[in-house]
Amino acid sequence: MQVNTSKRTELIDITDHVKKHVTESGIQNGICIVSTMHTTTAIIINENEPGLVTDILTLRGRIVPEGAGYQHDRIDNNADAHLRAVLLGNSESIPIRDGRLVLGTWQSIFLAELDGPRKRTVDITVIGRINGTESRTVRKISTKNLKSRPYEPAYFEGA
Ligand code: ZN
Repeated sequence: MQVNTSKRTELIDITDHVKKHVTESGIQNGICIVSTMHTTTAIIINENEPGLVTDILTLRGRIVPEGAGYQHDRIDNNADAHLRAVLLGNSESIPIRDGRLVLGTWQSIFLAELDGPRKRTVDITVIGRINGTESRTVRKISTKNLKSRPYEPAYFEGA
């Protein structure tokens, strides 16, 4: 999934994109892995409530303040973004049961932009069984131009 972010730091709800890919994969039971391809973004799951989104952004600033004498700032002045990405994590794995993501009512999947605005790519990999056959689909989608690779069944090594 390619996302054009608009601010230096923001949370972008990508839940609908991920759900769409899971539905289109046809996989009924398996696992969905959402991962970011960058060192200054993260993937998190939490509630998409505007106050909470602001609180998360504020907390991140408190835990890793900008310009606190980081070594990496001598190179490209964005050490805070890398360190925040380390704390939030690069990916989330979500179970798929009966063709649906196993998420609670208030859980949304977010791309956390930590050093935008930039064009970002999120990878969505779905692994599971279709009619008893191990399958895997991979997609990169975009909020602007939805890019997707066609469905590619694949066998697990050693399965
Ligand atoms: Zn850097």
